[in-house]
Amino acid sequence: MYPVMLDLRGRACLVVGGGGVALRKVKGLLEEGARVTVVAERACEPLRSLCAGPGARLERRAYRPGEAAGYRLVLAATDDREVNRLVAEDAGAAGVWVNVADDPELCAFHLPARVRRGAFQLAVASTGEAPFAVRRIRQLLERRLGEEWAEWMDAAARFRRAVRRAHDERPQREAAYDAFFAATVDEASLRVRVPTEEQQADLLRQVRQGTEVLEGGTEVGSPVAPDTSDSSESTGGSAGETTPAAGSVFLVGAGPGDAGLLTLRGRQRLMEADAVVYDRLAATALPTDLPARVELHPVGKQAGHHPVPQEEINDLLVRLARRGLRVVRLKGGDPYVFGRGGEEAEALAAAGIEFEVVPGVTAGLAAPAYAGIPVTHRREVVRVTLVTAHEAKKSSGPQVRWDLLAADAHATLLGYMGVTSLPQVTARLLEAGMNPDTPAAVIARATTSAQRSVVATVATVVGEVKRAGIEPPALFVIGPTVRHAGRLDWYSRRPLQGRRLVLVGRAARWGRRLSRLGAEVIPAALPVSEAARVVMGVLPLSGCVFGDPDDVEIMDDERDGPGFGPQTVAFCRDEETARTARRLGWQRVEDLGTILTV
Ligand code: SAH
Repeated sequence: MYPVMLDLRGRACLVVGGGGVALRKVKGLLEEGARVTVVAERACEPLRSLCAGPGARLERRAYRPGEAAGYRLVLAATDDREVNRLVAEDAGAAGVWVNVADDPELCAFHLPARVRRGAFQLAVASTGEAPFAVRRIRQLLERRLGEEWAEWMDAAARFRRAVRRAHDERPQREAAYDAFFAATVDEASLRVRVPTEEQQADLLRQVRQGTEVLEGGTEVGSPVAPDTSDSSESTGGSAGETTPAAGSVFLVGAGPGDAGLLTLRGRQRLMEADAVVYDRLAATALPTDLPARVELHPVGKQAGHHPVPQEEINDLLVRLARRGLRVVRLKGGDPYVFGRGGEEAEALAAAGIEFEVVPGVTAGLAAPAYAGIPVTHRREVVRVTLVTAHEAKKSSGPQVRWDLLAADAHATLLGYMGVTSLPQVTARLLEAGMNPDTPAAVIARATTSAQRSVVATVATVVGEVKRAGIEPPALFVIGPTVRHAGRLDWYSRRPLQGRRLVLVGRAARWGRRLSRLGAEVIPAALPVSEAARVVMGVLPLSGCVFGDPDDVEIMDDERDGPGFGPQTVAFCRDEETARTARRLGWQRVEDLGTILTV
């Protein structure tokens, strides 16, 4: 196969067919300035309106034998193989280049997959043999090549013109191009920096003076800064004196647990990442549609495993970034609220690695919200304190002034790492004179299907927590607004609260409804992604939702994984699906209606 780029401006092209495939082809041809004739007995609406515009004409009729001969390029995309064959034969006989969608045998040429950044284009092909591979490679390149490549290519074209004006000799020109490339392209990460006019002029001057620009410490000569697409405002601390590494780290707050509480920016960084280093608390927020290429590195506490020590996490982040990767460090809640995010940022700064911080919804604000407690309230609370309860147990290090906190009657105290230290904390507050009737709540696993809470007073809360068997991670809330909890508790009242449901394949369509009813929903497209497996395994699953029998079969491999157990129900849309589930040994099979119509 011999690749070419065709200049189709003003040239006559024929598209036979009126469906979605034809529509895409017509769009592609029009973008390149071709004059397009579309022949189709029936054309879809978007194609009809496209052909009402300039450049294209729709003829609503059957293909006429022989007519392919009148064009430079012919694309057939009907669902009738005989018509496609006739078009291909006509074109072949007339020496016109022809392509038939999804039919390599009838093609005189194949259409490569494209990645386009302005004037810069990459074509990807596999001789028609493995379209799936081509598609994935295209997606990969689509993700890896930022939009800035378009501007970079324009700059390269301008630079070339300037070089040609300045130098007649080939070696000098090549030296200038090398300098441009080395200064603006990071080869490991495939990111580019668009040099300013001034920087380009600098490069030219240096080449003219014969200085060694590649190693010179000029500004433009330093390796690539973060992309210019949207992050000019978002880069955190960078290198200082040290040499910046090619990769970068994004400290992303995952929010308190509910996957819907991850920020848009956080999701964007995850989807663009090469590697994700995540804590167990943060794992419920991993997008289940995370691309398969993303490396997953768990570092949090997992049942039966020790957590990875902080120094090792810091080293891992530095190591991954030095490989030139975009690394997301996904942390529960907000990265800088009692999450040792500051230490990680310090380690990155010390290693000269670019980083960015994406704040998250911290548990201290989310847990009360989901338990019916406004953390401020007019005329009741005028101050909010985030405190780590852990310190109450320690005798060294900075001490929390519990006495001052106890004296403040119009404040809300939000205590992180609060369950095990609660006896010490409440004792200190009471010793310092806090009113023993001050309302106090403890909320565990807030915003997830496992959320549980108790509401009591400072004097009684320790006993209540023990009685209810509340375990970490949990947060305590002490202050007058806790008394609203009974009335404002919108979350645990929802009919499906406490359910954790995997929506298998197309069952994702019931996601909104189920989540509005209070369920924690995990969309799992098929085949199940590694990220989806991680999410499923964090907490016990109450059920899988199946829309058809095939999905039950495909999911069968997953049922040994963590999260699944005898409690996991197969919720099936119809009898046939339910039969399949029973045949495959699901012990609890129920009709989907039982949860959709609660
Ligand atoms: N950076 C995190 C806090 C990390 S410290 C944040 O901003 O939320 C870990 C403590 O956070 C836990 O001991 C617990 O007190 C609290 N926490 C985190 N997630 C929680 C949740 N879903 N429900 C209740 N408390 C939570």
